[in-house]
Amino acid sequence: MQVPIMSSAPDWRADFPGLAPGWSYLDSAATAQKPKVVIDAIARAYGEEYATVHRGVYARSATMTERYEAARERVATFINAARPSECVFVRGATEAINLVAESWGNANVGAGDHILLTTLEHHSNIVPWQLLAARVGAKIDVAPLTADHQIDVDALENLIGERTKLVAVAHVSNVLGGVADVTRIAKAAHAVGAKLLVDGCQAAPRLAIDVQALDADFYVFSAHKLYGPTGIGVLWARGDVLNGMQPWQGGGSMIEEVGFEGSTWAPAPGRFEAGTPHIVGAVTLAIAIDYVENIGLDVIDHHERALAAQARDELRAMNSLTLYGPDGGRGIVSFAMEGVHPHDIATILDEEQVAIRAGHHCCQPLMKYLDVPATARASFGVYSGAEDVEKLVNGLKRVQRIFG
Ligand code: PMP
Repeated sequence: MQVPIMSSAPDWRADFPGLAPGWSYLDSAATAQKPKVVIDAIARAYGEEYATVHRGVYARSATMTERYEAARERVATFINAARPSECVFVRGATEAINLVAESWGNANVGAGDHILLTTLEHHSNIVPWQLLAARVGAKIDVAPLTADHQIDVDALENLIGERTKLVAVAHVSNVLGGVADVTRIAKAAHAVGAKLLVDGCQAAPRLAIDVQALDADFYVFSAHKLYGPTGIGVLWARGDVLNGMQPWQGGGSMIEEVGFEGSTWAPAPGRFEAGTPHIVGAVTLAIAIDYVENIGLDVIDHHERALAAQARDELRAMNSLTLYGPDGGRGIVSFAMEGVHPHDIATILDEEQVAIRAGHHCCQPLMKYLDVPATARASFGVYSGAEDVEKLVNGLKRVQRIFG
């Protein structure tokens, strides 16, 4: 039986030239396809407007510098930062977390201190903290999950102690789709003077973010999951925290004055942007932000949640499928099929023009917790539609037929 198509949403898919007709791209949690406005802006920035920033006295460079700094302002309004200078352009979320672990971590976490993570974190929100812990002799604690695969905040609160210096959590899980209660976690962290880092990779493309209301100390995300280019992302840190941090990379742009007897550093954010930055990345991230905000993050989230709910209902009705993550989660659906490796599922679905992700999704500790080597994951974007869910379900029925 074919799955009926839901009432159709506006045709956002038409904005994405990379989506070939008939191809169901269900791997947006890994990276999102790019709208034409972003692709055109990248071509224009390199083809017509390109020059370096912060150094040139000629008009083209001055204009590019204005646009680079305007992009920082755009990011600040996107996440409601108090000031654009709190927003540092980095290569992506991974680099942002490593920057915090090195710069803030080395100065503020010592022997015997604790860093608190959760079971569902992405490797990029685990390994930098392990490296820090090994450097300084700190200990890592891990908050468990509830039966419906959400962060167990009661247990997390009980793990916070006087020696906890940092709590680091994913805002939205890239495997399970649940949303963390960030404000409650912030309150618990701040009660003992610990800082809170929020990994916003999966939240930035779907939730309106207000870093001040969340009361985080650090918030990180990558542009490429937000319909922007790869190689650019954002570290936001509260002004007082960022200004107290030492540089983590040295080079051009991050200095005030350099001498062989010693050098002094530029104020934030420049202090953390050594070398020629990803100029085109920053200015076209701003275009991607315009794109999602023109549609409305609430509209995108509502659209993706409807698709995820439809997919979960359809998958739950099928024999031999196990679903992970909470009902009502965001546009990310992880599942396993009894007796079939997720890679086989993904390979057969690919023959049906359905692209899903299979593997540990950079969450090996979570896989261990779920007691599976891997899961299959379908994740939605603004361009996804009911026909994608239909193709997924029909493809999975074929997988079942093949494996008997
Ligand atoms: N955290 C989460 C929750 C993610 O989904 C990802 C990307 N899969 C990352 C961190 C790392 O992002 P990037 O590879 O862009 O640095």
